Amino acid sequence: MKARVSEIFYSISGEGMSVGVPTVFVRFSGCSLRCGVTTNSKLWCDTGYALSFHKGELLSFEEIISRIENFSTVSQILLTGGEPLEGEEKRKICLAITEYFWKKRHNQDYSYTRIETNGKENIQGFPHAVFTLDYKLPGSGMEDFMLKENFYFLRDRKHPLDEVKFVIRTKTDFQRAIEIVNEFQLFSNILLFSPVYGEQNPTELAEWIKEAKLSNSRLSLQIHKILWGNKRGV
Ligand code: SF4
Repeated sequence: MKARVSEIFYSISGEGMSVGVPTVFVRFSGCSLRCGVTTNSKLWCDTGYALSFHKGELLSFEEIISRIENFSTVSQILLTGGEPLEGEEKRKICLAITEYFWKKRHNQDYSYTRIETNGKENIQGFPHAVFTLDYKLPGSGMEDFMLKENFYFLRDRKHPLDEVKFVIRTKTDFQRAIEIVNEFQLFSNILLFSPVYGEQNPTELAEWIKEAKLSNSRLSLQIHKILWGNKRGV
């Protein structure tokens, strides 16, 4: 069992409820979405270098575990991409990683592995993962790919560590996000609202969040970019 991996590195989590937490990132190669590509806008994906399914190192489960544990045996583990759940081999390896850390860390911190996923791939069948699940809004050009079952699943399992993330390009995106929250009744999940870097003013987004008055909403800035700039491996 092997999958292509773009990079494995140790940093702090830059977003969401685990912001600032020391984290080992496993970035799998390959994603079939192209966020930000609409009629007159360019790709905004932060990890364009990880979108190809053919680039990166082909690593076994054991090799990935060894590299993670060489960085840290106590930190949060984040499986990301590209898209970690796209393709059978990646799904099997992600499942094996979540099972491994669940058994090894039972009743300790970070026994759940976090999976950051794009909303298109089915997230069911990973009982020992917690999710940062994107809902792609109209500004991304990828909304048609969203798998509705994912959002019902996350709503119904009511895990306190799950979060739904909305990347906001415009006010229209924010309004659509609020519609989605109401449509899927996402009132018991943490909701992250994150501005498109360099496009959406974060202060303006903060004002919209205040007006919406959703107690589970959070403004999510990418603090790794504030700390180290918009570069790879941080
Ligand atoms: S889903 Fe994620 S990795 Fe894929 S293009 Fe969009 S932002 Fe990039």
